[in-house]
Amino acid sequence: MPRPAAATIHLDALRANLATIRSLCPRSKVMAVVKADGYGHGLERVAKALSGADAYGVAALSDAERLRAIGLTQRIVLLSGIHQAADLAALRRLQADTVIHHESQLEILESDRSQAPLRVWLKIDSGMHRLGFAPERAAEAYRRLRQLPFVDADLPLMTHFARSDELDSDTTAEQIRAFAESTTELSGQRSLANSAAVLGWPDSHADWVRPGGALFGLSVIEGRSAESFGLQPAMTLSTEIIAVNQLRPGDHVGYGGCFVADRPMRIGIAAIGYGDGYPRSLPSGSTVLVDGSRAPTVGRVSMDLLAIDLDDAPDARVGSSVTLWGRGLPVEEVAQAAGTISYELTCGITRRVAFDEDGQIAD
Ligand SMILES: *Cc1c(COP(=O)(O)O)cnc(C)c1O
Repeated sequence: MPRPAAATIHLDALRANLATIRSLCPRSKVMAVVKADGYGHGLERVAKALSGADAYGVAALSDAERLRAIGLTQRIVLLSGIHQAADLAALRRLQADTVIHHESQLEILESDRSQAPLRVWLKIDSGMHRLGFAPERAAEAYRRLRQLPFVDADLPLMTHFARSDELDSDTTAEQIRAFAESTTELSGQRSLANSAAVLGWPDSHADWVRPGGALFGLSVIEGRSAESFGLQPAMTLSTEIIAVNQLRPGDHVGYGGCFVADRPMRIGIAAIGYGDGYPRSLPSGSTVLVDGSRAPTVGRVSMDLLAIDLDDAPDARVGSSVTLWGRGLPVEEVAQAAGTISYELTCGITRRVAFDEDGQIAD
């Protein structure tokens, strides 16, 4: 018997979320950001389910390789760009686009001998101070790219937001302005919006939006659930109860014995733990679903196992299903209890968890 811990990927939810995003920005093309193995959902299955997207955004050439290997022909954009001259040959072989955000990358392009066509996106730092040319250098970088005969005439301009998840922060409006000012003289398509900006900053939609988290039904705006935007969870993490035990008052549960029963209790032991990516930082009393109903966890999360208070689940028994997050229990609720964000949880599912899928892959 394999372990029952499983991550079920809801392909219909991915497609529905893409449709929801499209309806919010009907004039923009959509680059589906699928970095980090599709935010932990599995790159190939996610990309196939999202084949209605106009492009894919990835962080590694190996991801572009995997997408081409399954026959996808959409544009693929390497979001952090090239690191060495050899990457150019790989990009050309894969017919993938690269972002250029730094002088060192410009120099690699300028010393390229191949002259074979290449599609480039120019990234400008409008205020996040992570990747991108400073606004005052944007025009120079643009001119140098335009001078390279092999760089495609379609040269989109992009930037990335630091705080678009905070709808009451001025930063995003300032970044939109800084980007517009630094690019007024430059022709080309524009791309600014991540998921939070798709949902909360319509002025930023422009020619291309670049949603990641929203496609996976993750919460992307501070204080707002994904569901409140009509987005559906794309992953349900589940397992089963493999033992049911009776406790007497005073009995300790789990490592450190930090939970002590104050009454006779029935607890279930579920086959999931931090070795699967269920966070150890979750405190005792965090919520799971047992056969669809909420129940609190008991004591520390172990590597392979988790104890659950079954007092409110009298029908629970060995084999009962336990949902850790997903349908019925938003991952953002679990993330908040663990002191992190939903992205880290879905990205953190480990390889021993069995992945399966439901729903239809697009035709
Ligand atoms: C990750 C990333 C995105 C997507 O961000 P979400 O907040 O998940 O929508 C968009 N653009 C760039 C450059 C990124 O690195």
